[in-house]
Amino acid sequence: MLGLMQDRPLLISTLIDHAARYHSDVEIVSRTCEGPTVRTNWRDLSKRIAKLANALKSMGVKPGDRVASLAWNTHRHVELYFAVSGIGAILNTVNPRLFPEQVDYIVNHAENRVLFFDITFSGLVAGLQSKFRTVERYVALTDAGHLPPDVDGVLAYEDLLAPEPDTVEWPVLDERTASALCYTSGTTGNPKGVLYSHRSTLLHSFMVCTADGFRLSSADSVLLVVPLFHVNAWGIPYAAAMCGAKLVLPGPKLDGKSLFDLAAEERCTFSLGVPTVWLGFFQHIDSTPGIDTSALRLERVVVGGSAAPRAIIERFRGLGAFVIHAWGMSETSPVATVGNLLPRHRDLPEKEQVDVQVRQGRVVYGVELKIVDENRNPLPQDGTVAGDLYVRGPWVTSGYFKGVGGNMLDEDGWFPTGDVAKIDADGYVVLTDRSKDVIKSGGEWISSIDLENAAVAHSDVQEAAVIGLPHSKWQERPFLIIVPKPGTAPSREEILGFLSERVAKWWLPDDVAFVSELPHTATGKLQKTKLREQFRDHILPVNQTSHS
Ligand code: AMP
Repeated sequence: MLGLMQDRPLLISTLIDHAARYHSDVEIVSRTCEGPTVRTNWRDLSKRIAKLANALKSMGVKPGDRVASLAWNTHRHVELYFAVSGIGAILNTVNPRLFPEQVDYIVNHAENRVLFFDITFSGLVAGLQSKFRTVERYVALTDAGHLPPDVDGVLAYEDLLAPEPDTVEWPVLDERTASALCYTSGTTGNPKGVLYSHRSTLLHSFMVCTADGFRLSSADSVLLVVPLFHVNAWGIPYAAAMCGAKLVLPGPKLDGKSLFDLAAEERCTFSLGVPTVWLGFFQHIDSTPGIDTSALRLERVVVGGSAAPRAIIERFRGLGAFVIHAWGMSETSPVATVGNLLPRHRDLPEKEQVDVQVRQGRVVYGVELKIVDENRNPLPQDGTVAGDLYVRGPWVTSGYFKGVGGNMLDEDGWFPTGDVAKIDADGYVVLTDRSKDVIKSGGEWISSIDLENAAVAHSDVQEAAVIGLPHSKWQERPFLIIVPKPGTAPSREEILGFLSERVAKWWLPDDVAFVSELPHTATGKLQKTKLREQFRDHILPVNQTSHS
């Protein structure tokens, strides 16, 4: 017998309608590429979204068509989020930090018909225009006065919107209809497309707003640092419309000072970003004598994408903000685990609370996790053993766009994340490595992430990376590469001495190198393939004690 409840589909258009109606005056503040800051609200934004939806239809964009964006976090990019998906088309948010060849590959692979871009990327677009085989229209996200001269046949976004009506009748779509397409920036091979649906997006948004999720609510002013081109900005635009949060969009300026000023001026209570942006944020604080941090109102800061260093968690505590460490990936919409404290953690001394926070968070309802050994046998979730991490749930991908990579799921429908993790009885996850980065020393695994975390705890270390290098006796041994903080020059012995008090003896790196910077991917992750290439010929000293 079926239930008798109404079978209303979960659609992205319902989010913007709700925000416009019940959170109409809540502000959307956006820095722009042209310079000025634009202040609008959910009501006025929804009118522009309706205009854009009508403009897309006038252009002949049909349900299922792909529309690309190459853009920063601005109000116009948020408008694309709702208008494109709202009419049943699919927004392909392309990461402009990728190499031009990858942008070329993605735009063609997705068969985008229209490309919306920020004027800061006009050079990139002009250079690739002859290669984009499917793009019929180019729209610069600006007004006629700022149109870039170098892109052929370009239209101004504001001209496109101007003649259109500011209301729209949204189609009632099947909730499983595709809504957005993000390509994962793999470190090898071509990027692969993850195709989200209206249903997966709404379910993910509900989770973001729960108390054990990100606790996003109408009380929040959100500094959206994580880019709209990186996994739907971790789902925040949708969730913010769902709960009526204020959105503060930094535009192209993501340096520490710009973010600090925005957070203070807009009284932001909640923010999200990868560790590197927060390093910049604290560098700004440290290098500005007499800076007044009392204007900051940050309560919660989500850190993810890479492991949240302990120092960032502690520094935010010093500012009265709680770091919610989260883990996920493009394939999981992205949020799968969220690092809130349990009631029994609340009375712990600060250091022990931070011990909980450095874990990658706790599984949220809707996501199932398992870890398995080399033979795919499930391993216990008691926090002691690490294994390959698999994930399953209604906002987890079932495969890549156009079948790239074939069937990724195991026989029970689990998706292999490529991460290696421990899971404890409470569902907290500790990521120990990417499976391809694990250092296999004498048959035992050494976690490169644990070693990196231990190294960045040293006061002179800005950033650290650990890779495995070949070793005649142990197959592989850890090699530590360090970027010292400006004005410091730590020695190899000092670093190894520091680490020897924090990790098992046989985990100690066999050698240390000092560099001025480390290579990162377009989404701010350490690019270990590059490091392995760079240090391919490095010979480790032979007389290390290693496993003794
Ligand atoms: P992406 O699809 O670009 O978001 O990358 C997802 C990958 O980033 C994951 O599979 C992890 O390897 C890594 N990652 C995400 N969050 C964290 C985290 N909190 N700690 C460590 N690695 C993370």
